Amino acid sequence: MALLKEVARDKAEDVLDEYWDGTFPVDPVRIAQTLGMTVYEATLPDGESGRIVKEPHEDAAIYLSRDDPPQRQNYTAAHELGHWFERAMNDDDDYSFVDHRADSQQKDAHEWFAEWFAAHLLMPAHDFIAAVDEGLSLARLTRKFGVSRAAARNRARLLGVTICD
Ligand SMILES: [Zn+2]
Repeated sequence: MALLKEVARDKAEDVLDEYWDGTFPVDPVRIAQTLGMTVYEATLPDGESGRIVKEPHEDAAIYLSRDDPPQRQNYTAAHELGHWFERAMNDDDDYSFVDHRADSQQKDAHEWFAEWFAAHLLMPAHDFIAAVDEGLSLARLTRKFGVSRAAARNRARLLGVTICD
């Protein structure tokens, strides 16, 4: 059985092949809308960055915290999209996930899948490593991939590359 991490990566690559034109930054909101989801900016409870709600026989709705900066919302949208694909792979038609900003949130298999999916979707390994090799600074990496500095740093660490600053 393939590792969950690899399943998430392969799924993100499939999604990019099927629903994205190869330009950066990837727009997860547009992908969600293409799949019939509605994406809302909303006032969410304190500390919540987003949620996805799927009612039986209805299209899913994604809510992004209006208090978060655009790059953070982008990442949350990619994360919620990860939940959507993971549940679709399991033929689940009725679910909801609520996501909090704090990294201290306990992560189960669903959350790990969504996290790995989001990182791969927004910062595909091949393209991210190529950009770092080209010598893009942290600021330029965040613009190219539409992610926060923390997300870009984290990705570099996991891929074993060093961002020159
Ligand atoms: Zn989640």
